[in-house]
Amino acid sequence: MPAARYGHAMGPTILVIEDDDAIAAGLVRVLHSQGYEARRVAAGLPALAAITDAVQLVLLDLGLPDIDGIDVCRRLRGARPDLAIVILTARDAELDIVAGLDAGADDYLVKPFRLPELLARVRAHLRRAVPASGDASPAAVLQVAGVRIDAAARRVHRDEQELTLRPKEFDLLALLAAEAGRVVTRERIMRDVWDTDWMGSTKTLDNHILTLRSKLGDGAISTLRGIGYRLET
Ligand code: CA
Repeated sequence: MPAARYGHAMGPTILVIEDDDAIAAGLVRVLHSQGYEARRVAAGLPALAAITDAVQLVLLDLGLPDIDGIDVCRRLRGARPDLAIVILTARDAELDIVAGLDAGADDYLVKPFRLPELLARVRAHLRRAVPASGDASPAAVLQVAGVRIDAAARRVHRDEQELTLRPKEFDLLALLAAEAGRVVTRERIMRDVWDTDWMGSTKTLDNHILTLRSKLGDGAISTLRGIGYRLET
């Protein structure tokens, strides 16, 4: 291993959990080409053992040879609330996707996906998971809807109690808070939080609104049916 791989210039670490050798090799190759540190494991149990604090994002195939990918997802989320988890499904399996999101995944890609799309998602998740140090924006603490949001530290407190938010839940809350009292359309949320114009399925958004509501308390987020959401001041 070249020593440089462990130097300060090392990119974010991504764990690829995929049993298909050809797909895994392609993923690792393209991630390396973009400067990411990428490692691959071919099954679920080794994946659970390979999750260290250095890993910031996982690409998780749901169809694994040893244990259920959904179970892997749930256990990864339990161990690492801050980890970005993107599930890969073999086909447009709505039930797998919903189960994966319920198990704590932040996002999903349906195979076969295009590599530029994969890289766009990876960039978006890592940008949010790892804010560059030293670029904290001023006056980044917002007090709204009974919660205190520290954008630079990516921490949220409610009644002096810190809330554990998944990366995308934080981004969603930050967006709604920036527009508190006003409606934010579903289109804008998909674009700003998920970097996509694709509205074919917004189950990811629905799921995040649901969990955010349970954490913020009743009445914090209003639904404007067919339009969007509003964080109440
Ligand atoms: Ca598989």
